[in-house]
Amino acid sequence: MKICIYRGTNEIGGNCVELASNKTRVLMDVGIPLISMEQREVPVSEYKVPCAGLYKDEKASVDAIFISHGHPDHYGLLPIVNKDIPVYMSKVLHEILLKIQPLLPGGFDISDLDIHDIEPDESVKIGDMTITARAVDHAPGAYAYEIEHNNKRVVYTGDIRFHSNQKYKSWALAKKAVNPDYLIMEGTRLSRPELKEKYPTENAVCDGMKDLIRDSGKLTFISMSSQNMDRVVSVIKACRATGKTFVIDPYTAALFDVYHELTPKFPKVEDISCVRIYYGMSESIVNRMIKSGLFYKHKSQKITKEEIMAKPDNFVIKYNLKLARYLLNNVIKDYDFIYSMWTGYLDRQKTWDRYKKHITEIHTSGHAEIMALQKFVKQIKPKNLIPIHTECKNEYKKMFGVENTIVLNDNEAKRI
Ligand SMILES: [Zn+2]
Repeated sequence: MKICIYRGTNEIGGNCVELASNKTRVLMDVGIPLISMEQREVPVSEYKVPCAGLYKDEKASVDAIFISHGHPDHYGLLPIVNKDIPVYMSKVLHEILLKIQPLLPGGFDISDLDIHDIEPDESVKIGDMTITARAVDHAPGAYAYEIEHNNKRVVYTGDIRFHSNQKYKSWALAKKAVNPDYLIMEGTRLSRPELKEKYPTENAVCDGMKDLIRDSGKLTFISMSSQNMDRVVSVIKACRATGKTFVIDPYTAALFDVYHELTPKFPKVEDISCVRIYYGMSESIVNRMIKSGLFYKHKSQKITKEEIMAKPDNFVIKYNLKLARYLLNNVIKDYDFIYSMWTGYLDRQKTWDRYKKHITEIHTSGHAEIMALQKFVKQIKPKNLIPIHTECKNEYKKMFGVENTIVLNDNEAKRI
């Protein structure tokens, strides 16, 4: 086999990894760099990697693409890939990309791609390679993949963590895929200063929110990703425990529908008594939602500004700029602001500056901290270790004690 990491050897995100035999070429992820999130005006084609036979404007010669999870730094090139190439992903991710992702700014339509759902632990044969999906803790429907060819086995972790309610999945990967010939492993947090997190687990996040909301006596805004299902559940639990109402937007409600459809344990929006929907958000999202018929689906749970203003301390509002601006310009003098996303955005994006005095950060990372990764490596016992999705590739050998650590550069092909 041959490996080529087109992107991701020296940065966090933008993953695109080719594994090839003499006959078959498969890609693990087709991501765009993290910086793209701050440069939405830049067309996706600017982020192409030099992978022949991948794109629309050429003859397809990649045999399959496997997507690990629903973050653009892992799937962002999809709108420009050749539609003849089959794309594999979890059912949850397929639904999110099909129904939810197009609603967002920069969203695109994947309905004309040749997408195949793959179940956890299911194997598919692509030419002379076999690829098996392994569920991991990171994001809804997140997978690692095992790639086998000629008695050689490679494990690609995608993004991974070991500290939410789904952590058993990541530990199961160590058992199911034990002793691989090569482990291509992410190392996001190896360079990040927030190694000692105040909230090391999702349960700690939930408790932190409960404490803050309970004692606040004020309206609370919360900025978070609607796609972070664990976080959504934590906020609902915190609101339930404190008798508060969680105000979401129609976009988040549409995501709840997808979660319910695929995980019946996740209740219907209508059945979550502490959730109400505020129908005012960015016009472009509203227009897309009206077009897709999703906008007024849950109108029985509608809440108005007036209802919120009558008793503001009753509410935890998923932050949206329009509503926050209105409330803060009119009645709300004091408020709490829970910031529940990656700290990096807080420093880099000016949007948050005006709220800084009110902000409490309550968050746990989507990525494993170093000790968890060390334990994982000890358990899975790879013969060779290959760094990816990291700014610390040269520390891997020292950090993980794997003698055969192979440090690659972007676009460098290596026989394995
Ligand atoms: Zn991710």
